[in-house]
Order: sequence, then C-alpha cells, then structure tokens
Amino acid sequence: MSRLVLLGPPGAGKGTQAKELAGSLGIPAISTGDIFRANVSEGTQLGRMAQRFMDAGEYVPDEVTNAMVRDRLAAPDAADGFLLDGYPRTVAQVEELDSMLGEHGQGLDAVIELTVDTDEVVKRLLKRAEIEGRPDDTEPVIRRRLEVYFEQTAPLTQLYDSRGLLRRVDGMGDVADVTKRLLAALHG
Ligand code: AMP
Repeated sequence: MSRLVLLGPPGAGKGTQAKELAGSLGIPAISTGDIFRANVSEGTQLGRMAQRFMDAGEYVPDEVTNAMVRDRLAAPDAADGFLLDGYPRTVAQVEELDSMLGEHGQGLDAVIELTVDTDEVVKRLLKRAEIEGRPDDTEPVIRRRLEVYFEQTAPLTQLYDSRGLLRRVDGMGDVADVTKRLLAALHG
C-alpha cells in the first residue's frame, strides 16, 4: 500500500491524518492545499494566482493544480509511494493523475474516504479559524468550500469505488482512534 489518496470534505481532519498515516507508512504526505499556501506566503506567481480562488472557497483551475502535482510527484521522495491529501478533487484531476502514474506503469493502491458529520465539520472549521487564522475559514467561505466539495469532489468516491479502490473510514472521534481505523482499513 504505497500509492494512496485521502478524500473527505474540508474539516474532516485529512491534513492531520495524512501526516500521521504517511509517517507510519514511510511515504511523503503531499497536500496541494499546503503547497498552495506555501506559495501564497512566499508571494510566488503561482501563489498570487491561486490566492483569489482559495480566498473565495473555489478550486484553483485544473491545469495549474495538475502541473503542480506532476512536478511534486516527479521528486525522488515520491518514487516509491505517496499519500495525496486534497488531490484529486475533480474528474479531470482523476484523469490527469491516471496518466501521470500510467506513464510510469503505476497506479493507485487505495483511495480512502474519511467520512464525517457535516455539522461537525462546520464546527471544526470555525474552531480552526480561531486557532490558525486561515483566511478561507470564515463562515461564508466554509459553506462555499463544502458546496464545491459536494458538487465536484464527492462524486469521485463512486468513481474510485467502481474501480474497487475505495475504503471508507469513520473520521469522527479521537485523532488517535481515527488513525488506527485508517491503518486497519489499509491493512485489512
Ligand atoms: P485544503 O487545504 O485541501 O482545504 O485546500 C485549500 C484550498 O486550496 C482549496 O479550497 C482550493 O482553493 C485549493 N486547492 C487545494 N487542492 C486543490 C485541488 N486539488 N484542486 C483545486 N484547488 C485546490
């Protein structure tokens, strides 16, 4: 199990769990949101372009995101495996990831969906807004991010399920318990 995708709505705890899981599996956790945020804080051209989409709770255009992931996956540390957090998020990104991996005769081993209660998610995001001060954690933007997730990303679970790759894991409760469930789902 070394080429993995973690799916789930904003606030599901993907970032935290991706780091835990990747650490135990000895593979890099690759978060497109983190890469975008790093670019925003460094003031790069990519960051300036991405920021207006992020601030509005919209997805950054596929061409930009795909090119960034292609670059990241070409880095030596991702050669033997990775855990993608926040990518793919659209059907076009799924297709692009298929071709990135297919070019090297590779494919995904599993896609994990972290399932959560939507009310709980909004609460978590508002709390995170207080702690981290992320500019896209205001209530209207949170609502938009959830809408975009359900419109554009939730359908990917069916797509991966039809390929026999999907594993659903309950993301509610203690961080450590969720990590245990995730590891069990991967090994089971
Ligand atoms: P995240 O940290 O995963 O919640 O991502 C924060 C924001 O970055 C999202 O709301 C999008 O604006 C942008 N973003 C991250 N990943 C993607 C992606 N795969 N496709 C498009 N936009 C993305």
